[in-house]
Amino acid sequence: MARKNRDEVASWDVEPVPVLCPMCERVIPDDQKDAHHLVPKSKGGKKTVCLHRVCHDQIHAIFTDSQLMKKFFTIEALLEDPAVQKFVAWVKSKHPGFSDSAKESRQASGSRRGRKQ
Ligand SMILES: [Zn+2]
Ligand SMILES: [Zn+2]
Repeated sequence: MARKNRDEVASWDVEPVPVLCPMCERVIPDDQKDAHHLVPKSKGGKKTVCLHRVCHDQIHAIFTDSQLMKKFFTIEALLEDPAVQKFVAWVKSKHPGFSDSAKESRQASGSRRGRKQ
């Protein structure tokens, strides 16, 4: 994974402390860590938070950069959005290593309905 920002590099060298995702509050496995710019980098943002890749992707699927810049530049604001809440409720039911939603749910589509979460 390419380095996205300088601030985080230092913390990667210290002993592995479980990092919790502020979105779904699950531990983030090393290979799923992704830095999200609270204010989009394209808008001059520098502060990042560490999220699951899947949670990160979801933020950008829901919001545009200008929405993020104007309103959703804190985790609190993100979590107040109904679309985010829906996603978080869903992703919390997955195991911590879960990453590729699309593929898995498509393959399991036959049995998905019977599997209550
Ligand atoms: Zn991001
Ligand atoms: Zn997460």
